[in-house]
Formats: sequence, C-alpha cells, structure tokens
Amino acid sequence: MLYKRSSALFVKAEKVIPGGVNSPVRAFKAVGGTPIFAKSAKGAYVYDEDNRRYIDYINSWGPMILGHAFEPVVNAVIEKTKLGTSFGMPTEIETKIAELAVSMVPNIDKIRFVNSGTEACMSAVRLARGYTSKDKIIKFSGCYHGHSDAFLIQAGSGAVTFGSPNSPGVTSGTAKDTLLAAYNDLENVKALFEANKNEIACVILEPVAGNMGCIPPKEGFLEGLRALCDEHNALLVFDEVMTGFRLAKGGAQELFNIKADIVCFGKVVGGGLPVGAFASRNEIMNHLAPLGAVYQAGTLSGNPLAMAAGLAMLLELSTDEAIYKRLEEKTAYLHKGIEDVLVKHHIVHTINRIGSMISVHFSDNSVQDFDSATKGNNDTFKKFFHGMLEQGVYIAPSAFETWFISDALTYEDLDETIKAVEKVAVNL
Ligand code: PMP
Repeated sequence: MLYKRSSALFVKAEKVIPGGVNSPVRAFKAVGGTPIFAKSAKGAYVYDEDNRRYIDYINSWGPMILGHAFEPVVNAVIEKTKLGTSFGMPTEIETKIAELAVSMVPNIDKIRFVNSGTEACMSAVRLARGYTSKDKIIKFSGCYHGHSDAFLIQAGSGAVTFGSPNSPGVTSGTAKDTLLAAYNDLENVKALFEANKNEIACVILEPVAGNMGCIPPKEGFLEGLRALCDEHNALLVFDEVMTGFRLAKGGAQELFNIKADIVCFGKVVGGGLPVGAFASRNEIMNHLAPLGAVYQAGTLSGNPLAMAAGLAMLLELSTDEAIYKRLEEKTAYLHKGIEDVLVKHHIVHTINRIGSMISVHFSDNSVQDFDSATKGNNDTFKKFFHGMLEQGVYIAPSAFETWFISDALTYEDLDETIKAVEKVAVNL
C-alpha cells in the first residue's frame, strides 16, 4: 500500500481533530482517498510519512516560492529563536521588514503585520468601512478572502437578494452587507453601485483569482473597477495574499499598473511562517489604532520568528533581478508540456496561467468566472489528481485551486512532471 503510514496517521487524527485536519481542503474530500502526511521538504520536493518523494506544486499553498527549507529563511529563524520567541513589545525587525515591503510595493506608505491572510482581509475591510463610514462591500463569487464572516457568502441571486449566508454561523445581518458580483463582469459591479448609492465602502477582489483555479482579469476589468470606485468614493482593495510578491516584486498592482487603495498580503510575505499584512497610504492607514479609531490588534502580530522568515524571503526576492522572469519561463514551459500531452490524448481542457500561477481545468469553455470554473469535469480531475500523486507529483486536491510554481523546480523536474501527465493521460 502506497500510503500506509499516512492512512494510519489520518485515522488517529480524525479522532481528535475535526476531519483529521486543521484546514478543510487538506482532507482530500473533493478527490476522495486519504491525505498524505508530510514529514519533511527540501527545495522542490516534499516527502511523506511513507518516505515517498513528490515534486511539489502546492508549495504550502503559495509561500514557498523559493522552494522548501530555503536556507536563508531557515537560518534566520534559527538565529532569531535563540533570542526569545515572542515579547509583545516592538522589535527592530518589524520596522526592517516594513521598510522593505513599502519599498517593493507601489502606492503604500505604511503596512501592518498580522498572523494570516484572513486577518489581513478582515482588517482591510474594517479599515475601509471605518475610513468611508459606509457598510457594504462588493466581493466576487469564487474569490476567497479567508474565513471571516463577511466573506463566507455564497454565490447566486438568493444570497444577493436576501443576504442568506452559505456557512451556518454567519448571521444574515452580516451577509446583507456583502454584495456579490461575477468575476470579470464590470456591468454587474456597475449595477450594484447604482442600486446601493453611497453605501459601498469597498470592492475587494483577488486581482488574479486563484481560488476557483487560476483566472486572470480580463483586459479592462481592473481599470474599470478602479474607475467605478473613484466615481462612487469607494476603496479598491486588492487581496494579494496569493499574488503579492509572487507575480512581481510589487505584486498585481505593479504587473497591471493599477493603483489599489488597500492591499492585503499573506503566504510569501511570511516565508512559510504564519504572517499576513495589510497596507495603504498614510491618509488611510492613519485611521488605525493607536493613531485612529479603527481597532485592530494581535498578541503575536509581528512575531520575531515570523518577521525573520519574512524578511529573509523578501530580501531574496528584492535582490534577485531575474527571479520573476525565471518563474514565468518555467511556468510557461510546464504549460506547453502539459498542453501538448492533453491535446495529443484528446482530453478536453483549458489551461489558465499568469506568471507562476497555473491551473488545468478539464473543460473546453474559457474559464473566466465562478460559473465557468464549475463546468469542469470533476471525475477527470479526480483521476488526474490521484494518477499524478501515484507518479510522485503533488498538485492541489481540488479542481478549484491554483498550482504554485517555485523557483526550486528544475527543468528536469518539469520534464518529469510532463512525463507523469503523459502516463496519467492514457487513463483519463
Ligand atoms: N485571500 C486569498 C486570496 C487566499 O488565497 C487566502 C488563503 N488561501 C486567504 C485570503 C486567507 O489566508 P489564510 O489562509 O492565511 O487565512
């Protein structure tokens, strides 16, 4: 049995942890089977408890852009640990990483560090509401901004009209203030602004969607949102938890040359430790406590180990001039390799890619929003996923996730992956 020890560990975990996991998508529910338990990882590879090696395309869901156990990050954390792990007092390293982040990302003067992407987005929305003195927000179906109440609103007309939450536990009062639009549909957003005059605090979106597979913004979409926000005195919030420090040094704002009002970060910014952040210009950030009245706090926020990991990561990304070009080239190579195999085997598919984010949708329609993303053939995806796993390639256990390419991947790894697709495609 390939996954013997992982299976045994999962049985034990299920007794004491809901579903055996501390974050649902890890449980393989969408694809069936038992999750593999990680034992260690280095560079492009993750090793499971059965000592199998996988070429890793999840990379901890994004943070490991330079590969696992990247030495400058590991060493920075080890050295910091020796000096004490948490103080609840300001530390110099918080300013250092803030200075570096502000120098890398356009249109921000100040940044505040939190412990997760969820916290970053939740706090950004509170700040937008506090700053504009308006209550409602617009989000897009299929975009994920963490698990805070305001974001767990199901797509569909019922949710828009009646504010019915899709997760039990989210009050209808909260749900009513979240308006849903279809990704890449400017007219939809325009109509929401018209129907809710002077009530919308912000539009929040993933500037490249990554939580319904990878879906890039259509030409003019981000520009259109910027113009609508300006027209209606609402803030444009870019959730760059996935795209930040990944698509470019300055994230999607830099790549698309669009100015966001508030930007949220997670994943890469923490180098693999629990870190999130949100940032904006002074005029907006100065509304945060202790300067202003919008409250936000965290006992472990700016934790020295997390800051050390994040600083080592950002230092590397800010000084390696060729990194984003390299990542793009590797991802394009993988894209072409997989595409050729799927075409050869007549497998219906659409591959979306931008920078080092890529996803394979088993559908022949163009995938540009949540509706089109759900049209993919899930049975084919399940077979593909398990086939790749057997071949030693670890991709996300859900069709609605992006693959994250790391710079640790060599062209040999990419060729091995394409060969694995060739073997799996025969049985799709
Ligand atoms: N925003 C985006 C775009 C995300 O992809 C995620 C997590 N996948 C989050 C927010 C939430 O981040 P976290 O899981 O760190 O709370």
